[in-house]
Amino acid sequence: MSALPAGGTVRAITRWGEPVMHKPCREVTSFDAELRSLVADMVATMYAAEGVGLAANQIGAGLKVFVFDCPDADGHHHTGVVCNPTVRVPVGRDRVLDDDEEGCLSLPGAFVACARTDSAEVRGIDLHGRPTSYAGDGLLARCLQHEADHLDGIVFADRLSTRARKKLYKEAARLAVDFPPGWPTSR
Ligand code: ZN
Repeated sequence: MSALPAGGTVRAITRWGEPVMHKPCREVTSFDAELRSLVADMVATMYAAEGVGLAANQIGAGLKVFVFDCPDADGHHHTGVVCNPTVRVPVGRDRVLDDDEEGCLSLPGAFVACARTDSAEVRGIDLHGRPTSYAGDGLLARCLQHEADHLDGIVFADRLSTRARKKLYKEAARLAVDFPPGWPTSR
């Protein structure tokens, strides 16, 4: 567990449909004050939106870094910052899928069942340029996969059946009035 940088500014969350959400982000190569400032803003925005994770492109920055503060299956909270992540999930006999509900701050309010492996490990680089890794189960496993997907330009609708995707968009449209443009800065 690592402390998340504080003191950031809450930024408007970028929605699905914006190009930055649907193409791979650039690798982080400079572990400098600019990166720390971006990550602090990501943390502030994640908490303001009451999310468990946030990827840089969700505040419009096409850079491979995500943050999380998320409980595992036992309810223990894990926090971290991961740059340039690679995800490993169980294969073969060890591969067990969870079909729990999933949502995304970039399509706020709507949730639909999405199959994910019940555990996952992510490896990458921390804010200081050092190797880091996290592993988890429950919601944390889902979160690590979801956020790493974002940095590859994948949103979870891309992993759904046509039917589930339609249900998700219908629900999001119904709730749109609760999440005006600029959310969560507009609260
Ligand atoms: Zn998301």
